[in-house]
Amino acid sequence: MERKALGGTGLMVSTIGFGASGLGEAFGEIDGVEGTRAVAHAVECGINLFDVSPYYGNTLAETRLGEALVGRRDRVVLSTKCGRYGVDTFDFSPGTITAGLEDSLRRLKTDHVDVLLAHDVEFGDLDRVIGETIPAMRAMQAAGKARFIGVSGYPLGALVRVMEAVELDVVLSYCRYNLLNTDMDVELSGKAAEAGVGLINASPLHMGILGGRLVPAWHPAPAEVQAAGALFAEVCGRYGVAPGAAALRFCTDYPEVATTLVGMASVEQVDENLAALTMEVPDGLWGAVEEVLGPVRGRVWASGRVEN
Ligand code: NAD
Repeated sequence: MERKALGGTGLMVSTIGFGASGLGEAFGEIDGVEGTRAVAHAVECGINLFDVSPYYGNTLAETRLGEALVGRRDRVVLSTKCGRYGVDTFDFSPGTITAGLEDSLRRLKTDHVDVLLAHDVEFGDLDRVIGETIPAMRAMQAAGKARFIGVSGYPLGALVRVMEAVELDVVLSYCRYNLLNTDMDVELSGKAAEAGVGLINASPLHMGILGGRLVPAWHPAPAEVQAAGALFAEVCGRYGVAPGAAALRFCTDYPEVATTLVGMASVEQVDENLAALTMEVPDGLWGAVEEVLGPVRGRVWASGRVEN
């Protein structure tokens, strides 16, 4: 699989990255053994970026990913996060995130991660994220525990604000470049490129809506956006393509990001997503998709502190 530079880090990452929140059962119960097989299969197929967080499944995803990567660690770019430890549990203070990374490393069975991201920074006090969290992450980098650092989150303004105030290596943005929203293209991509920051685009299926399957009850998108998933699946059916693959392909065709992170927890899903890279896009597909998704594109939801 093609690899691209992750900003100025020197890391080369695969076009598709493996989002491991599903290993923590973020989208419903999974077979843990099958999750392990999915990781192994993804590595064999050339996927090299794996993204996780202590928040996913209350540490379960890190534990499962760590077990699955035994004997494979040197073949992957491993990314985890700090500062978010529960649905409403955020603590970006230096002491907590430094201890938190030690716990993550134990679960991931490694002595360092390649990327460490402050998780959903819009839930923190951004002045303190800039003045305290990022310097503490740089100290962890200097100690050899993380090769590169950055932030993740939903509101683009918060990501840009941190990126413009302090040097970052990587930014992870989710649900901001896919068939249901492309505002990352206008508000973030150019600025990240100018700053030499590696850009990771997460949630190409808009956290499941575009997969044509069950959408989790916690999904924050407005009802009309969630309902559009069924219309999209119907259009894809007419054109003979799998909705998940079509949605992913729209993202992997976007040249401004280093990688697209899609959530996977089974071998079958890894194969479905790999097929997106080579699928023939039928003439007229994107026009027909536009008719059903155009009217609800760009509908965002609130995330984080109001001032962010
Ligand atoms: P996603 O858009 O990748 O959707 C995942 C859902 O789609 C899951 O239910 C999965 O089972 C399903 N799916 C996957 N491939 C499919 C296919 N081919 N056909 C049909 N359904 C398919 O959303 P995501 O999982 O939230 O995002 C990917 C990853 O990005 C996460 O696992 C995580 O690592 C990262 N992420 C990070 C943040 C953050 O830092 N704040 C937020 C969101 C996502």
